[in-house]
Amino acid sequence: MISEPDTHHSPLTTGHCSYDLVIVGGGLVGGSLACALRGSGLRVCSIEAVAADAPAQPSYDERVIALSFGSRRILEGIGLWGVIAPGAEAIHRIHVSQRGGFGFAHLDRAEQGVEALGYVAPARLMGTAIRGILGAEATVGGIEQLCPARLLGLRRRPDGIDLEVSVAGASRTLNTRLLVAADGGDSFVRRRLGLTVRERLYGQDAIITTVSADRPQPNTAYERFTDSGPLAMLPMTQGRWSVVWTTLEADTQGLLGLSEAAFLARLQERFGYRLGGLSRLGRRVAYPLRQVMAREPVGERLVLIGNAAHTLHPVAGQGFNLGLRDLAALAEVLVEAARTGADPGGRALLAEYEALRGRDQADAARVTDTLARLFVNPWGPLRLARDLGLVGLDLVPGARRALARRFMGLASHAGRPSRLARGLSLGQSSGGRHG
Ligand SMILES: Cc1cc2nc3c(=O)[nH]c(=O)nc-3n(C[C@H](O)[C@H](O)[C@H](O)COP(=O)(O)OP(=O)(O)OC[C@H]3O[C@@H](n4cnc5c(N)ncnc54)[C@H](O)[C@@H]3O)c2cc1C
Repeated sequence: MISEPDTHHSPLTTGHCSYDLVIVGGGLVGGSLACALRGSGLRVCSIEAVAADAPAQPSYDERVIALSFGSRRILEGIGLWGVIAPGAEAIHRIHVSQRGGFGFAHLDRAEQGVEALGYVAPARLMGTAIRGILGAEATVGGIEQLCPARLLGLRRRPDGIDLEVSVAGASRTLNTRLLVAADGGDSFVRRRLGLTVRERLYGQDAIITTVSADRPQPNTAYERFTDSGPLAMLPMTQGRWSVVWTTLEADTQGLLGLSEAAFLARLQERFGYRLGGLSRLGRRVAYPLRQVMAREPVGERLVLIGNAAHTLHPVAGQGFNLGLRDLAALAEVLVEAARTGADPGGRALLAEYEALRGRDQADAARVTDTLARLFVNPWGPLRLARDLGLVGLDLVPGARRALARRFMGLASHAGRPSRLARGLSLGQSSGGRHG
C-alpha cells in the first residue's frame, strides 16, 4: 500500500458530514457497490456527477454488456437482477473464429452444465435497476446520495480524507474514513492524488451498434478475430444483435460516416454470413480502446475499483464483470468490518481486499491484452498456429472447460470467490435489501 502526497490546491474547511465510506462515481460499478451496501450499518455517501437518466450519463449509455454467469449471481445477491432479467438475453453457445482462417471453437452451456454461459444486457437497463434500488430519495438503506454532485478536491487527514464536493452549485465538505474511487477510466481521484498507471494503447476503437439478422441463431454469441481486432455479435432480446466492432483508429471516422447500407455491407464482409443478411442498423457510437491499470489500486484509506482501477480492452467482455467481482469482495470485507466494529479504512481491511483481488485483476488484464494483440498479427505461421489453437480448443473438452469457466467468471485460479459470487448473501446487519 502507498501513502500519496497531499495534492489539493485550495484549503478545505473541517468536514461537516462524516461517513464511514464515500463512493465517488455512481456508474455501473459505484452504483452497484452502493446497492450492495444497503443496510450494512455503515454510513455511506454516493457522489455522482450526472443523473442516471440524463442522456449524457457516461456509464448508463448505448453499451450492451455481456455478463458472466458469476456476475448474474452477484447481481442477484445485491437485488439488481430482478429488474435486469426481463431485458437480458441468455447466452447458450459461444462461437469463436478467425476471419480468413479455418479454425473455430464452440462453448456450450450443456457441456458446462449451466443454465447459461452468460447474459447480454443493455447498460441503460442496469442504470434503471440501480436507480430503482437506490430510489429518488436522498437516503436509502443508510446510503446518502448526492446527485448531480461532483468531487472537486480532496485532502488527507491522519484518520480520514476530506472531500470538497459541488452539489447544485454549492460547495460542501465531507469527511470519510474510506474513499472508494469508482469514477471511471479517467479517474479524477487517481489524477488528483498523482497515482500512476500502466497504459497500453491499441490504436483501435470499438464501434458499437445493433443490427437484425435474417438467419438468427438464438442465444448464440460470436467472437470473430479479424486483422483489425475482434468483432463480437451478441444476442439481444427481440431478435436484435449487439455489434462490438474493433476498428483501426485510422478507419473509424470513415466507417462512422458511411451510409447505413455501406456500413452494413462492410460489417457483413467482416463478419460473414453465419447469421444470414444483416439489416436495420442502430445508432453507431465509437469508444477509443486502451488498457489502463492503476499501479497501486489500494492506498491509504483509498480503494480504486472498476475502470478507475483497470480499464480493459472489451474483447471477451471482461471489464464490468471484473468490476463486479471487485465490489463483491469489497462489500464482503466492509460488511464484516461493520459487524465487528473494525475501521472500514484500516490497513488490515484494505490489505485483505488487495490480497483477494490482485490476482484476478492481473489475470484479466493479461488475457484481454493477449487476445487483443494476438489475432491482429498477420504473420503467416502465427495465423496457422491460431487456427490450430482454435481447432485444438474445440477438440479438447478440458481446454474448453477452462475457457468457459473464465468467461463465466468462475475461474478457480482467480482467488477465493466472494460470498456474492458463490450465490450467498452478504449477511447485512439490518433490512432494506433485495428490493
Ligand atoms: C465498447 C465497450 C464494450 C464493453 N463491453 C463490455 C462487456 O460486454 N462486458 C463487460 O463486463 N464490460 C464491458 N465493457 C466495460 C464496461 O463498460 C466498464 O467496465 C464499465 O462501464 C466500468 O464502469 P465504472 O462504473 O467503473 O466506470 P464508468 O462507467 O466510467 O462510470 C464512472 C462514473 O463516475 C462518474 N464520475 C466521474 N468523475 C466524477 C466526479 N469527479 N464526481 C462525481 N462523479 C464522477 C461518472 O459520471 C460516471 O457515472 C465495455 C466497454 C466498452 C468501451
